Amino acid sequence: MIQKVLIANRGEIALRIIRACRELGIKTLAVYSEADVQSLHVQLADEAICIGGPKSTDSYLRADRIISAAEIADVDAIHPGYGFLSENAKFAEQCESCNIKFIGPKSKSIRIMGDKAIAKDTVRKAGVPTVPGSDGPVESEAEAVKIARKIGYPVIIKAVAGGGGRGMRIAHNDVSFAKEYHVARNEAEKAFGNGAVYIEKYIQNPRHIEFQILADSHGKVLHLGERDCSVQRRHQKLIEEAPSPFLNADLRKKMGKAAIRAAEAAEYQNAGTIEFLVDPKGNYYFIEMNTRIQVEHPVTEEVTGIDLIKQQIRVANGEKLDLDQSDITWTKHAIECRINAEDPARNFTPSPGTISLYYAPGGHGVRVDSHVYSGYTIPPYYDSMIGKLICYGSTRKIALQRSYRALSEYLVRGIKTTIPLHKAIMSDPTFIEGKATTAYMEDFMSRTPPDLF
Ligand code: ADP
Repeated sequence: MIQKVLIANRGEIALRIIRACRELGIKTLAVYSEADVQSLHVQLADEAICIGGPKSTDSYLRADRIISAAEIADVDAIHPGYGFLSENAKFAEQCESCNIKFIGPKSKSIRIMGDKAIAKDTVRKAGVPTVPGSDGPVESEAEAVKIARKIGYPVIIKAVAGGGGRGMRIAHNDVSFAKEYHVARNEAEKAFGNGAVYIEKYIQNPRHIEFQILADSHGKVLHLGERDCSVQRRHQKLIEEAPSPFLNADLRKKMGKAAIRAAEAAEYQNAGTIEFLVDPKGNYYFIEMNTRIQVEHPVTEEVTGIDLIKQQIRVANGEKLDLDQSDITWTKHAIECRINAEDPARNFTPSPGTISLYYAPGGHGVRVDSHVYSGYTIPPYYDSMIGKLICYGSTRKIALQRSYRALSEYLVRGIKTTIPLHKAIMSDPTFIEGKATTAYMEDFMSRTPPDLF
């Protein structure tokens, strides 16, 4: 039985995990960098150990120090959260070999899904549609151009080790391909230490629709429905909602089954997400699997009533899922807005600094997952997300109105945030009508004067 969990993360997700553990009667150990002494996760955990300097390469990415902390504090499990070491197969393996439960999938599944070319190949063999493209990574520019011509422009060049929207470039013809191919390789090499890229058809105006998977170690794999994450800036999600305004019951059923097949193909256990692009005609294509809990997991929790973090811990404990597919229903609509410390009026430049006043909204149907408070100083070393606002209700209309109302109450003084941007989107007809595709944000920004933010 898991009695004590080390949380190998920071920010709102560290708090989210502490809260789930506390409700389950499990003790928590926070690890933190020198820049996070003031952080709420350090204050709220039962114990805390400093693991290094402010840069994540000196702290949250130091597997050796995290494992040492786990051994010193005698924990039985590590929850990696998202980002940092959460999709690092070697780290999961190290935990496995030290007899510490990794609250996530087996390292083997992380390895399969962590290489996007292998992942595509694996799910295709299981009968899941994938975006037409190269079979695995391309070896040379000459070969790459040949494939691009065969698929037909526009194409997208993607890093096999990709994540966070980096190492991804679009090419419209041979000339732009030659340039973008090298840019993508260099970006991938810099960001992931692996310059390998593959090529896909660029799907025009798609929706990003992903399915939440939950699987136990006894062979049961369920899906908890979809999240529509089409509102993105530079391939990074800004707003997520469930259910998707685009899907009907029939398509949801088909995609849900495909998502389960994809997870089974990787012998998946624990919580994970199968991401698809869906074209305007309703054709869907697998793009990748995230082998961890995701930022946007609360929208699924609010529409299904299932606590995903608790389920993760139970599955890691070897327990059987006490749910069947037919138990999972979607009776509400939920929308999440990511609140980032960025200035939307100035090309989303990061806005770290001290929050002089913080007041989070509340009331019926409002959830705020955040680690910040009045007087908190945002360190410049990590990502810019300072909170998530999740509003839910019995219909999409209510969730939209509630989001607008809650955003109007949300006060974060002393820094710039994306709150005014979200308010503008919540009152934009295209978004309200449920018509946003991944092309939405670029169009929205081009027709919205910056002084609105
Ligand atoms: P990452 O792992 O970096 O997040 P993904 O493969 O999940 O990369 O893709 C992120 C986003 O990039 C997608 O949600 C979509 O907006 C865009 N994208 C990726 N592949 C394609 C494609 N083949 N056609 C059109 N857009 C794409």
